[in-house]
Amino acid sequence: MKWYCHLQPFADTPGQLPGLLSEGRGYRLICGPLRKRINQSIILQFRPQSFWELTTRYREVVFKYNGQRFEQPEKAQSLLDKITRQPFITGIAGKESKEQPPQLFDLTTLQCEVNKQHGLSAAATLTATQNLYEAKLVTYQRTDSRYLSKDLKSRVPKIMEQLKAMRAEQIAPLNLAKLPFTTRIIDDTKVTDHHAIIPTGVRPRNLGVHDQLVYDAITTQFIAAFYPVCVKHVTTVDGISRQVKFQAKGTQVIEPGWTILFPKKKMSQDAADDQALRAFTKGEAGPHEPSLREGKTKPPSHFTENLLLGAMEAAGKFVEDDTLREALKERGIGTPATRAAIIETLLRRNYIQREKKQLRCTDMGRTLIEHSSTRRLDPARWGSCPLCGKEVIKGNRAYGCSGWAGGCPFVLEAECKGVTLTPRQVQTLLQLRVLQKPVRIENEPRIFILSTQGLIMDLRLPSSDRQKNIVKNELVKGQSSNLSRFPRGDGGK
Ligand SMILES: [Zn+2]
Repeated sequence: MKWYCHLQPFADTPGQLPGLLSEGRGYRLICGPLRKRINQSIILQFRPQSFWELTTRYREVVFKYNGQRFEQPEKAQSLLDKITRQPFITGIAGKESKEQPPQLFDLTTLQCEVNKQHGLSAAATLTATQNLYEAKLVTYQRTDSRYLSKDLKSRVPKIMEQLKAMRAEQIAPLNLAKLPFTTRIIDDTKVTDHHAIIPTGVRPRNLGVHDQLVYDAITTQFIAAFYPVCVKHVTTVDGISRQVKFQAKGTQVIEPGWTILFPKKKMSQDAADDQALRAFTKGEAGPHEPSLREGKTKPPSHFTENLLLGAMEAAGKFVEDDTLREALKERGIGTPATRAAIIETLLRRNYIQREKKQLRCTDMGRTLIEHSSTRRLDPARWGSCPLCGKEVIKGNRAYGCSGWAGGCPFVLEAECKGVTLTPRQVQTLLQLRVLQKPVRIENEPRIFILSTQGLIMDLRLPSSDRQKNIVKNELVKGQSSNLSRFPRGDGGK
């Protein structure tokens, strides 16, 4: 549970989430995954690595080398030399794959989907859904069930009938008298207080842009849930040339099923795995054109809001503490209805920031997390001297280094820049080197940091505009910002 104890000082906001967690815990947990992502990507420190990919073209189809990509060009080059002008022999295998229609929406999946498709924030989607509910166009929105109860079976065909006014073409292929009520749709045990969000059949008029987007998403999902599966044929062609193995994949849609309702939906992530394959025969052989391509690794992507919502729902996975993980397993952070609010609060407080569809940890958030990352406060001691590392002791008016007799000059006045430090704040500064909760100087919130020279420095909380610039500059220069130059809270090393 290393990474989320450090935001604890923010957990001072009173008020409980309707779920099982206090607000503060929620923030800490969210910042955890964000920080993980930041640490991996650390865009500031990320240096793209070169790699080499070996492919070969045989009868106009690209085959990828059947192994890891190469970090050094020599190894790849020697394989390339080995197979150049050597025959290429194929083997073939195919299998049918079925994709089930999507399940109905609960609030979180609705928010994720609308964010993914249209970039709408979770909060905006919640507001829109609430508007739609109040206008009696969709069923109750604050739900975490993706199922309908049995008693709704008779209502569904009526709703479909009413929706025909808007979606005649999409509903026409459905046999309303014999809708397939699978267990992916109907399950009484998975309906708690509320069932999945579905349209009521009432015809909307003059909806706002967001409301319309959300309404369309809910309606399409509802219709799609009753559509047939999508059937595909996935063909894998193996190729071999002097023991060097290659593979090509192709996908052919046999029955589009429900996917025709989502024309823009990308069905496969990897274009190279989705090429139109010719008819190969097993064991055929012929000339091929192997080649080597140099590529660069990319930094891992930032959290988008829909990923973060997913992470909050699956929060248990990120947590190392057993008891807490158990507690989180069932429900995740917050409730479906409050997750959006938690993200908005983090945004408002400037710990994270929205850039297009991505969420980024701001300098503020990052500084606070990094300075105090892995340590808890030890209440039994004051902390160590930033100059020499010896224990700090309390004097009459100030705190000082226990090595003073040996000449260490470190003194920390309890009265500092017009702020009277509480004993707890002194401990935090001496042990973590930063006060995560801002103090007020000249009526402005500031962050106190204890430097390695033993001086107290105060940082202004950057405004959101300034933070945006910092992030941009960092991306351009690939350097860390001035905030990161302050010493880390590594406890008197
Ligand atoms: Zn000292």
